[in-house]
Amino acid sequence: MAAAMSSCLLSRGLSGPSRRDSSFPRPFASLASHRRVLPASCKMRQRSLSSRSRRPQVKKASPDRPPSIVVNGEGEGGGASAESARSADQEIVSESEEDDSDGVVIDVENENVDTEEVSNSTVLETNLAIVSDTGQHLSSIQVDDLMGMIKSAEKNILLLNQARVSALKDLDNILSEKEALHGEINNLEMKLAETDARIRVAAREKMHAELLEDQLEKLRSELIQRSELSIEKNEHSIYENQNIQLNAEKPSSYQTSAHFLSKELSSLRAENISLKIDIETLKAELNSVKDTDERVMMLEKQRFHLESALKDLESKLSVSQEDVSKLPSLKFEYKDLWEKVENLQPLLDRATAQADQAIVGLQQNQVLRKKVDKLEETLEEANVYKVSSEKLQQYNELMHQKIKLLEERLQRSDEEIHSYVQLYQQSVKEFQDTLNTLKKESRKRMLDEPVDDMPRGFWSHLLLKFDGWLLEKKISADDAKLLREMVWKRDRHICDAYMECKDKSEREALAIFLRLISAPSSPGLYVVHIAAEMAPVAKVGGLGDVVTGLSKALQKRGHHVEIIVPKYDCMQYDRMLDLRALDAVVESYFDGRLYKNKVWVGTIDGLPVFFIEPLHPDKFFWRGQFYGEHDDFRRFSFFSRAALELLFQSGKRPDIIHCHDWQTAFVAPLYWDLYAPKGLDSARICFTCHNFEYQGTAPASELASCGLDVQELNRPDRMQDNSARDRVNPVKGAVVFSNIVTTVSPTYAQEVRTAEGGKGLHSTLNLHSKKFVGILNGVDTDEWNPATDAFLEVQYSFNDLQGKAENKRAIRRQLGLSSANASKPMVGCITRLVPQKGVHLIRHALYRTLELGGQFLLLGSSPVPHIQREFEGIAKQFQNHGDIRLILKYDESLSHRIFAASDMLIIPSIFEPCGLTQMIAMRYGSIPIARKTGGLNDSVFDVDDETIPFQFRNGYTFLNADEQAKKHVVGTELMNLGKYDTHEAEN
Ligand code: ADP
Repeated sequence: MAAAMSSCLLSRGLSGPSRRDSSFPRPFASLASHRRVLPASCKMRQRSLSSRSRRPQVKKASPDRPPSIVVNGEGEGGGASAESARSADQEIVSESEEDDSDGVVIDVENENVDTEEVSNSTVLETNLAIVSDTGQHLSSIQVDDLMGMIKSAEKNILLLNQARVSALKDLDNILSEKEALHGEINNLEMKLAETDARIRVAAREKMHAELLEDQLEKLRSELIQRSELSIEKNEHSIYENQNIQLNAEKPSSYQTSAHFLSKELSSLRAENISLKIDIETLKAELNSVKDTDERVMMLEKQRFHLESALKDLESKLSVSQEDVSKLPSLKFEYKDLWEKVENLQPLLDRATAQADQAIVGLQQNQVLRKKVDKLEETLEEANVYKVSSEKLQQYNELMHQKIKLLEERLQRSDEEIHSYVQLYQQSVKEFQDTLNTLKKESRKRMLDEPVDDMPRGFWSHLLLKFDGWLLEKKISADDAKLLREMVWKRDRHICDAYMECKDKSEREALAIFLRLISAPSSPGLYVVHIAAEMAPVAKVGGLGDVVTGLSKALQKRGHHVEIIVPKYDCMQYDRMLDLRALDAVVESYFDGRLYKNKVWVGTIDGLPVFFIEPLHPDKFFWRGQFYGEHDDFRRFSFFSRAALELLFQSGKRPDIIHCHDWQTAFVAPLYWDLYAPKGLDSARICFTCHNFEYQGTAPASELASCGLDVQELNRPDRMQDNSARDRVNPVKGAVVFSNIVTTVSPTYAQEVRTAEGGKGLHSTLNLHSKKFVGILNGVDTDEWNPATDAFLEVQYSFNDLQGKAENKRAIRRQLGLSSANASKPMVGCITRLVPQKGVHLIRHALYRTLELGGQFLLLGSSPVPHIQREFEGIAKQFQNHGDIRLILKYDESLSHRIFAASDMLIIPSIFEPCGLTQMIAMRYGSIPIARKTGGLNDSVFDVDDETIPFQFRNGYTFLNADEQAKKHVVGTELMNLGKYDTHEAEN
């Protein structure tokens, strides 16, 4: 059947050339011809489609094989170009024309069309109809679709052909394999027949052998019987022979039969031998038959295998026959597709025509495109313009914003100018007042000037007049003395008085002269300091020193100075003189009500001091420490208001109210907002900020407690903190509300006007720069005088430094330090241990001093717990060390003794508003080693700094504060001072 199938296929393959016209190459040729007429732009699109489609090629079948379709297995979408595709099509046509006999013609004319395909093609046609209906409007995309459909149809046909060709090829193979198998089977059958014949011969021989064996057996048994019989006979014959011989004569018949028997026996024996040989031969034959059997068995097995292989092949053949049976349906499909292709042809033609139209349109489009491109370019330009106009708009907006900002700024500066104008007017007024006062004073001075233009007789007349009144007991001796003195001084007042009483009675004249001598002399300015610290009774740092030192200096210059401080429980009461509570209370406002304040008075270093003790349940200043309480803002705003209330209620009219640091910064706004309107308006406010690090900011609402208007003051131009809108900043308030703002050194005043140094207030300070000034602090030279210092073991002076060595010895003794080497340099450090002071550099200096063989003394304490703990650790580490001592507390007397004992004092501050210890050190003959910052920069001048006149060089300075700087701290100085010998100093 397979062979029949195969021959059937072969006969189809050899179908006549009459069917050639319907073979598959034709449409490709027609498509190809279509492509040839397409314009370049269209070809481009086709090219891409072609490159994706599989291109069939018909090859000549090999002459020794049955003719079949051979599909070139080049990969799908193998990147063949349109040209190669076209040449392939041409090849197909030419090959088919060249070799008709080898081509395969598939009859598809009478095949039925699948209904689904019909519907698909209907849809396709409908689509194409729609496409054609759209006519002129067919876009290039629709043409592409159409081409795509045709291409996919082509692809399907090719695939079908491929499948068909491969099926035929398989069939061909199967048939040849089958034929070969048939040959093998025939051989086997022949062998089998041969083997059967042999078996049969062998069986016959076997039967013959069996028969022979039976015969042999029979013969053997017969032989045995006979031999037994013959033995008996022999015995009997021997006996008989003996008998015969004995009897001398037997009959002759016996002798012949014996002879016969012996003959027979020998023939039997011979027969027996030949039988044995036969048996052996048969056995050999039997063995060969057995071998043949085995071979037959093997052959049968082979046959069985071959039969099963044959069955497989037959099943394969049937499968391939089934495949072949499918061929008609494939043919149907092929035909159907071909029909579709043919149907598509006109559509394609139409589509091509439309494509041509589309191309024309495309060309028009290209023209349009160019126009569009041009337009786009113009648009782009326009866009650029637009962007630039947008930018312009943005710029305009920015400008508007800027203008707005500028306007705002202008407004602000207007306001500022207005306030300046006001200030200016005020200053002008003040100036006028001062001028008037000065005029008055000069007039007064003029009056005070001795009168030279009166005759001496006039003065003598006056003297006599006064002496007369004395003698007549009309005036006292003192009055007479004063009047006489005025005469001796040629005092204009007495002259004027004389003129005044020229026409008056003696009584009136007496009154005029007596009034003259009782008139008070002109005092200096009346300055009231309101501060949180005052040395030595309430001192934490430099602020206390400055308040006392400045007050004393002012007092010395003839000004009347008073100081108001809180009455802390932790003050040094033993340094106060005549402390007493006044028998009167001052009530001050706080938290919406009035609180009583007990007022204490006393003198400190000759200065009149008022201590305010608030009788508030919170016991504001009864906390065992000056600062660091949770309610510091409330405590000091309360105190500021109470201090002003004291001035107001006691009717004082100070010229200057000087407040210090954030704790009493409230005084400025309180004064102008509440007390000046009440009548305490004689004063001008001076605010000194000793350290902008501390600004005392708090939630704005807390300002209300002391009676200030939160709404009015929590404004950017008033007290509002520059970095938090909901907080108020007392220091900022004081800067805004004071008449003059000072800080404690010129360099620091510059530093705080920068963003880095201003701690958020630089803008405010710059805004108020006209009233902001840096004035270098000084030290109280009475308090800090080694020649009079009561804390020292031995007083000494610049001219006699022997006492310094004594103090060094004394402190070593006091602190248990080694005295083994009296000339060992001693480095001191007296400071609050806060980051500002460069604690890491202090720590480094300590170890470095030790390393270089010096002694180190640190007196200080820290409000920062971790720093305090750290230094406590170091103190513990060195508690028994001979060269290091850390005293971590505040100790006024010890500070004096360290200043006196040390050879050097380190002040490695990161920033330093002024710093007093370097100045004190200099007073005590201890060389300052300082970082060049703030007030240190204004007061310590490096010994090697040639820009500084030699006579002003007074210490060592360094600039950096980083790790690198550490080696500069102490190192060089110690090296230099290693040469310093206290003995030399003593000598
Ligand atoms: P600040 O005001 O920043 O603390 P200053 O150098 O302006 O620094 O002033 C420090 C004053 O405080 C100096 O008089 C110094 O002697 C003193 N002082 C600092 N610490 C102590 C201390 N632990 N014991 C005694 N006096 C100290």
